[in-house]
Amino acid sequence: MNVPLIALDRVAPEQHDEMLATVGRIAQAGAFTLGEHVDEFEREFAAFCETGHAIGVSSGTDALALALRALGVGYGDEVIVPANSFIATAEAVALVGATPRLVDVDEETHLITAGHVEAAMNRRVRCVIPVHLYGSTVEMAPLLEVTRAAGVPVVEDACQAHGARYKGQRAGTLGDLGCFSFYPTKNLGAWGDAGAVVTADEELAARVRMLRSHGERTRYHHELVGTTARLDALQAAVLRIKLRDLDEVSEERRRLGGILRQSLGPLGVCLPPEECDGGDHVYHLFVVRTERRERLRAHLREHGVASAIHYPTPIHRTKAFASLGLGEGSLPACELLAQQVCTLPLFPGMTDGEVDRVVSSLAAWQDAEGLSAVAR
Ligand SMILES: *Cc1c(COP(=O)(O)O)cnc(C)c1O
Repeated sequence: MNVPLIALDRVAPEQHDEMLATVGRIAQAGAFTLGEHVDEFEREFAAFCETGHAIGVSSGTDALALALRALGVGYGDEVIVPANSFIATAEAVALVGATPRLVDVDEETHLITAGHVEAAMNRRVRCVIPVHLYGSTVEMAPLLEVTRAAGVPVVEDACQAHGARYKGQRAGTLGDLGCFSFYPTKNLGAWGDAGAVVTADEELAARVRMLRSHGERTRYHHELVGTTARLDALQAAVLRIKLRDLDEVSEERRRLGGILRQSLGPLGVCLPPEECDGGDHVYHLFVVRTERRERLRAHLREHGVASAIHYPTPIHRTKAFASLGLGEGSLPACELLAQQVCTLPLFPGMTDGEVDRVVSSLAAWQDAEGLSAVAR
C-alpha cells in the first residue's frame, strides 16, 4: 500500500453524484457566469466566515490582487509579506504594481509576527499581508496593534486556513479583507481554480465586486478599470455542496493531525508548531522539520509514503524576485525552514492503515538513523 500526500478522490459517492448533477443542470441551462449559484455561494461563504460580504473570484492570487486594488495599493507602495509563503502572496503585490517588502518569520511557528511587521514599517508601506500558513493562524492581536498604530490596512492571506478561528473569529475576518483560494487541494477545493475575498466593509466589498468584472457596477457601466476575475457558476455550485461539510472536514483534519502529532512526537522529527494563544490549526499541511530531510524523504519513498516540501525556496531567493536584491542570509529563519521542512500525508478520508503506515515508516527511519527521541 502506498500513501499519497493528498487524495482528491475520497469523496462520498452521494456527494460526487450531487455535484455532477448540479454541474449538469448548469451546463444544460448555459448559465456559466455569475448568477444564482455565485450569489448563493457568496451569501453562504460570508455566513460561514461570520462576516458581512464575500465576493467570489477566479483564484486566490486574484483575490489578493483585487483586495489590494480595492484598498488603492499600487505603484510606489510597499506591502509587507512574509518570505515563507507560497509565491502568490508576493506575486499579487507585484501584479498591482507595488513592491513586496519581504520579511522573515518566527523559526518556531513559521509565521510572521508583530515584531517583524513593526521592524519593517516605513512611510511607503501601504498594507500588510499576514499568511495563516499550513492552516495555523498568525497571532493577530499584537500584529493588529502595530498596523492600527501605523494606520496601515491588513489583508489576510487565508488561502490555507479556511474555517480556522483566532480568538473566536474566523481567519480572514480579522483584517480589513481576507483572501481565500479554492484550488482543488485546498481545505475547501473547487473542481478547478477559484477564490474569494471576504470583508465586513460594504464599500470595499463593492469595489472588489466591480474590479472582478471590468469595473462594472451594472452591465456596461464601467466605473473602474477592472479585469476578468469572476468565480464561475460551475465552481460556485461545487463549492456550495462542499461548504456544507467544511467544519466537519476541519475536525477530521484536526483529528488526523492530533494522531500524527502524538505518534510522531517521539520519532526524531520536529512536530508542526503548536497553535498560538487563542489560535487554531486546520492542518492544511502537516509540516515537520529535520536536519536530515533528504534522507528522510528517500526513506519514506522506499516505504511508499509520499512527502513534499512547502516550500523549497523562500520567496526572496526565487529568481522571480531576485530584483529585490535580498541575498543569501538576509532572512535566515525562512532560509533555514526551506532547508528543513517536510510535508507528510494528511488529507480527509485518510484511513487508519495509511496513518499507521506513515507512523511505522517514521519509526523505521528513527531506527535506521539511530536517532534519539529528542533529536531533530
Ligand atoms: C494557494 C495559495 C495562494 C494562491 O491561490 P491560487 O488559487 O492558487 O491563486 C496564495 N497564498 C497561499 C498561502 C496559498 O497557499
